[in-house]
Amino acid sequence: MTKTQLQTLTRQHGTPLVVIDHDLLRRNYAEFRKHLPQVQAYYAVKANPAPEIVRTFYQAGASFDVASLPEFMTVYENIRHLPAQAQQDFIWDKIIYANPTKPKGTLQSLDQYKPLVTFDNLGELEKIQRFAPHAGVVVRLRVPNTGSMVELSSKFGCDPGEAVDLIVAAHKLGLVVEGISFHVGSQCTNFENFVQSLNMAAAVMNESRTRGHEIKILDIGGGFPAPYDAHVKPFSQLARKINAEINRLFPKGIQIIAEPGRFLVATAAMSVARIIGKARRDGKRCYYIDDSVYHTFSGIIFDHCQYHLKAFKKGKQEICAVFGQTCDGLDVISLSEELPDLEVDDLVYAENIGAYSNASATWFNGFPPAKVVHLNE
Ligand SMILES: *Cc1c(COP(=O)(O)O)cnc(C)c1O
Repeated sequence: MTKTQLQTLTRQHGTPLVVIDHDLLRRNYAEFRKHLPQVQAYYAVKANPAPEIVRTFYQAGASFDVASLPEFMTVYENIRHLPAQAQQDFIWDKIIYANPTKPKGTLQSLDQYKPLVTFDNLGELEKIQRFAPHAGVVVRLRVPNTGSMVELSSKFGCDPGEAVDLIVAAHKLGLVVEGISFHVGSQCTNFENFVQSLNMAAAVMNESRTRGHEIKILDIGGGFPAPYDAHVKPFSQLARKINAEINRLFPKGIQIIAEPGRFLVATAAMSVARIIGKARRDGKRCYYIDDSVYHTFSGIIFDHCQYHLKAFKKGKQEICAVFGQTCDGLDVISLSEELPDLEVDDLVYAENIGAYSNASATWFNGFPPAKVVHLNE
C-alpha cells in the first residue's frame, strides 16, 4: 500500500479510515509458514475479527484460534461455504477454542461441533465434561511472560507441576487431553520465553507419556512480535530458536500449531485521520484529530501499544501533542509526535495499526468507529 493509494482512498471514503491490505496479510502468513514450516498457523481472530481477513487467511491455508462463541461462529460461517483445501472432516484442523474459561452456555452450543478447547483447572474440566462431552481438550500451561508488551501469565495457565495431574483427571472424567498449549505474552521480544516454555511443555509431555497418556498436539500459542520498530529482532531469528528447540525436544510425529494474532495483521493496516482542531498549550503545539483512543487508537489503552503519526504534507517538524476527538482527558494519542505545521482538514496517518485497534473500537461519546476498507482482497 503506497501513500498515494492511501490518499486516494481517503478522498473516496473520508476519515477516520482504516485500510487493510490483503496482499500484506498474505505476505505475513507466507513469512510465518516459510520460517516455521512444521507449524500450522491458527490465526487468533481477536486481533482483528473482520470476516474479510478470516476468508483471506483461510484461502491462504490458515486455521483459526477463537476465544468466544461469536468468534467461533464468525469463522465457521465464513469458511464453511468456501472450497475445502484438504481433508478436513474435523473442525480441529481449522478451529481451536483457546479461551481457558468458558461459560456453560458456550460449551453447550459448541458441543455439536466436537470442538477442541483449552482449560487450565479442574473445575473447568468438570464443566467441559458436563456441557461439552464431545470436546477434545488442551491443557494451558502458565509460562514466563517476561518482557512481553502484554502479559497473560497472571490470568491464564496451570502450574507445569499440576499439568500431569490434570491430564490424568481429564482421563478419569472420560475426556482426552489432545494437546498442551502456552502463551508467552503478546508482542514477545524476549525470545527466551519461547525457549523456556517449549522446555516446560516437553517435560509435561514426557511425564504424561510415562503415566500412559500420549499427547499429540503441541500448541505454541501467540506472541510473535510485529516489527513496530527497529528494536524488534527479525522473525527469522525467533523461528530459528523455536525450530531448534522443537527438533531437540519433541518426537517427530507430533502435530505443532501456533496462534499468531498480531504478527499476521499488525503491519497490514494503516489508518488516516483528519485534523479537526489546533491549539497551543503551555507552549506546545496540539492537534485534535477525528479518531481517538476509544476508536482506532484503542490499542494505546488496551494493548499498551504506541503508534506514531505522520503527515502527508512536508515541512519543518516540531514536537507536538495529538489528542483524540472525545471529551475525555484520557483520550491522548501522543504527547510527543514530530509533525510539520498542519492546518485544520490536513491529514495524518499511522502505520502498523492492524492488530488490537479497530477490533476494540467503541461508540464512546457518539463517535462511530472508523470506516474499514479492504485493499487487494
Ligand atoms: C490473544 C491470544 C493469541 C494471539 O496473541 P498475539 O500476541 O496477538 O499473537 C493467541 N492465543 C491466545 C490464547 C490468545 O488469547
